[in-house]
Order: sequence, then structure tokens, then C-alpha cells
Amino acid sequence: MVVGSLCLWPPAIDRNTNLLWQEPAEVLAQSRFWPGHEDRTRARFYTQQMLTTTLARKFQALVGFLFLFCALTLFSPAHAFTIVIDPGHGGNDLGARYGGLLEKNLVRDVSLALRTELEKEKGLKVLLTRDTDSPLALSDRVRFADASEPDLFLSIHANASENKNVKGAEFYLRSMDFDHSAAKTPPADSDLEVILAELHQQGQFLNSLALSKDLVKNWPVAVSSRSLRQAPFYVLNKTKAAPAILIEIGYMSHTGERKRLREPSVQNSIVMGIKKTLLGYRDRYLSSQKEQKAAPKE
Ligand SMILES: [Zn+2]
Repeated sequence: MVVGSLCLWPPAIDRNTNLLWQEPAEVLAQSRFWPGHEDRTRARFYTQQMLTTTLARKFQALVGFLFLFCALTLFSPAHAFTIVIDPGHGGNDLGARYGGLLEKNLVRDVSLALRTELEKEKGLKVLLTRDTDSPLALSDRVRFADASEPDLFLSIHANASENKNVKGAEFYLRSMDFDHSAAKTPPADSDLEVILAELHQQGQFLNSLALSKDLVKNWPVAVSSRSLRQAPFYVLNKTKAAPAILIEIGYMSHTGERKRLREPSVQNSIVMGIKKTLLGYRDRYLSSQKEQKAAPKE
């Protein structure tokens, strides 16, 4: 309302002369009774009005800019914490297949349920590399993840082994092979970027490690949790997203575990365990961002 009333000021302006369209009564009166003073009086009046209208226009422009700035600040959506979930396989790529259960369907169902649960939370943006039974190349998954610039990447699979006794969930981090040779000799300027990149990579690895440990901690007892591992999985090693984790939610080749993985209640407990972990990570991430912003600049 304040802005609206300000926009009514100044009154109508003649576009040709850049002046108020109506001369006030005293100008007309003076020019009528003292004709010799007419031009001088008018000149003084017009000069004052020109200054007034110029300042008023600048003021209007300033108010308009401030109004637009405030509107954009207040109504533009805040950055949502973005999670990309990647259900493995799809289409002709069935994944593991045991007892009529297909890995591609199992991991899609778990991923869809996870998305539904996460979308109940405010400030989260959840994206799936696939939510239908469509084939998707590994490179397309990576491309999708990188284009989405997620705060977290999670690929979901189910495991299988020739050894039918093996069971339990497994959590994979991208494999890391740091070359520390550069740190042993005084770095040249050109090495600085390499060292910074390594430090960044190590930071990402530590984030993924912390997240994986929480997954183990929050994993449901219905499916035993086995181990944390590193492996050169394509989607983990190629994506720029971090942390990046691949979960094998259990062994389909183990008869008992396969039976449990089919059960909706067990799938739900897996989903809730993952959700709790991701929300915990999100909260820690956001509080560290706040601390960084609050930290005094040197
Ligand atoms: Zn798989």
C-alpha cells in the first residue's frame, strides 16, 4: 500500500515539456498583473518544477527497484537440499533374478517408497534417475546426477552371490587412490590446484564415510548389515556428486533374506532407516553451512 501511494506522486507530467501540465494560480495571476515579470516568474517556476520532477522520477525508480528486490528475496524459493536416488537396472537389464524376484523391480519399489517418505519433509528436493521400468545407461545416470547438482547421490541395488549363505546389506563408497607424492616435495604453483583438488576429494570421501557409518547404524535388524566397502562402481566414480553411496540392500540369492526383502514391512523399515540417515546428514550439512556463514572473515 505504501508503494502504491508513492507511485501516485508526482502528479501528471507533460511528456513533451517534462513539466507539470497545469500552471498554479499565482503564476497566472502575476503574469496577468505584472506582464514584465511574466517570463522571469515562469522561468523560476519551471526550473523548480523540472528539478522536482527529475528528483521524483529518480525516487520512483529507486522505490520500484527496492520493491522488486524485496519481492524477489521474499518469494524466491530457498535452495532445497537435493537428493538423487538411482534405482539400479531397468528395462531389459533385470539385475539379479532369484525365485521370481527381479532386482530391477525390488530396487525401484524401495526407491519410490523412499522418495514418498522424503517428500514428506520440507526443504528437500528428491529426484530419481528412473521411476519406471525403463532401461538407463550408467552414463545417463551420471549425466542426470551431475546436471541435478545434488547434495547427495544414492544408488540402490540388491546383491547376489554363488554362495547361497552370504547375506546382509553392503554399503559402498567410491574407491579412492590418493597420490601423496606431490606433498613430499615443495609444490610448484602449478601443483596447488592438484593439492586443493585432492583435499576436496578427501573431504568428499570423509562425508561419504560418515554417511555410510550412519546407514549401518540405522539399518533395520530385519536385514543384517554386513560391511562398508570401497569399489570402483561406475556411477560412484564418475559422478561429481558427493557424498555418493551405493547400497546393496540385501542378498537375493539367500533364500531367507530374499523372503524378507519381499515383505512390505521389511522394505518399509529399510526405507525408514535410509530416511533417518539422510535427514541426519542433511541437518548436519545445513548447520555446518550456517557456521561457515557466521564465522568471522579474516
Ligand atoms: Zn544391481
